[in-house]
Amino acid sequence: MSRTTLIRGGLVLDWLPYGVDYADLLVHDGRIAERGPTLPARDAEVVEAEGALVMPGWVIAHHHLYSALAKGMPQPPWPPKSFHEILKRVWWVLDRCLDLEGVRHSALVGGLDALLAGTTFIVDHHASPSAVRGSLSALGEELTALGVRSCLAYEVSDRDGEVSRDEGLAENREYRGLDGWSWPFPGGHASFTLADDTLAALAEHGRLHVHLLEDPCDDALSRERYGASPVERFDRAGLVGPGSLFGHGIHLSDADFALLVERGARLAYNPRSNANNGVGVRTLEQYAPIGCLGTDGMDGDLFAELKFAYFRARDHGVADAMTPLVTMLQNNYRLARDLSGLALGALEPGAPADLMVVAPHSPTPLQPSNVLGHLVFALSRHHVRDVMVDGAWRVRDRRATAPGADRIPQEARPVATELWRRMEALWALEGEHPF
Ligand SMILES: [Zn+2]
Repeated sequence: MSRTTLIRGGLVLDWLPYGVDYADLLVHDGRIAERGPTLPARDAEVVEAEGALVMPGWVIAHHHLYSALAKGMPQPPWPPKSFHEILKRVWWVLDRCLDLEGVRHSALVGGLDALLAGTTFIVDHHASPSAVRGSLSALGEELTALGVRSCLAYEVSDRDGEVSRDEGLAENREYRGLDGWSWPFPGGHASFTLADDTLAALAEHGRLHVHLLEDPCDDALSRERYGASPVERFDRAGLVGPGSLFGHGIHLSDADFALLVERGARLAYNPRSNANNGVGVRTLEQYAPIGCLGTDGMDGDLFAELKFAYFRARDHGVADAMTPLVTMLQNNYRLARDLSGLALGALEPGAPADLMVVAPHSPTPLQPSNVLGHLVFALSRHHVRDVMVDGAWRVRDRRATAPGADRIPQEARPVATELWRRMEALWALEGEHPF
């Protein structure tokens, strides 16, 4: 594979700062080497963009790859009537049934799905209480093999007992990442499943990737079990700060949201998951200036997520949903920069060559002034033609380039079948999760 590539004739979009112009990009040794209106090809592999949009690969700010084998899975015999029941009857049953093989296939299936949708960086929040040790390495290795960068947290919790909790703490402590490809991020599930001593152990990291007030049950159970609200507990532990990433925050009070803003913490918005779980509505402008966009395990499709975020805001009377949407997408790259140290989000000379070529075949002109309109109303994952990470094509003409990538869905199917069989056995044996 040539290490020098000229991407010619694209409309190049940068997020940090936001800007769009026509330019050629010369990629060498993993980075953007030159950018200009008409660059000479010299010995480079030439890829014609033909007016397509060339933009940084997406960052998913909050994902759960462990749910990749959940599409179409059987449902519990007792339909959940609340968010807490959804966790106890569905997700905490699924994650308990995952073994390391299931974790690996989840990473491959979810990573491939994300990559084909233009995602090049995933901030994942992982749980597999019956296979904790080695789970982050398994995720990191499979994602790296596909050519996707990652930042990985194990979501520590007291819900599966002391052994599982201690293994989770150790997994977060010991995962070192993979040089330039994967980074560790200490994780916890949510305040209501973290006892005081567990939170104290996590506090040693000084930062945390954790769910926060996704549903009112987080507040009620935190007070009932541990005598304080989730934000009070995280604040006392010194975890409300610039290194922390909170998921959801749907039910944050104005004062607690202001505290997160003041401290520079980040808050991931996952509107499709919130709608699916019926946990309440917080629209995207209510996340500014600290919001970033995640998919929360729905899939790897940030195009779909940004559309849903936009339409949900419009449906709730937000006149200008575009401005906060852009801020939110920019924050995804700020988050990824902080986590990785890589200058992601702008295709400037010196920056990592992590990008996608999005070919819209649009009947209306795509030009610098209307790119955002195309993004919301026209473009989707189906328009992602090529994806490059670290200067190498990871998707070319809509096909992943990693060896064996075409067989990933087919090879995962028996693993998913076995996972679902274990879930049904657990429902028959124990019913819902007791915590
Ligand atoms: Zn989540």
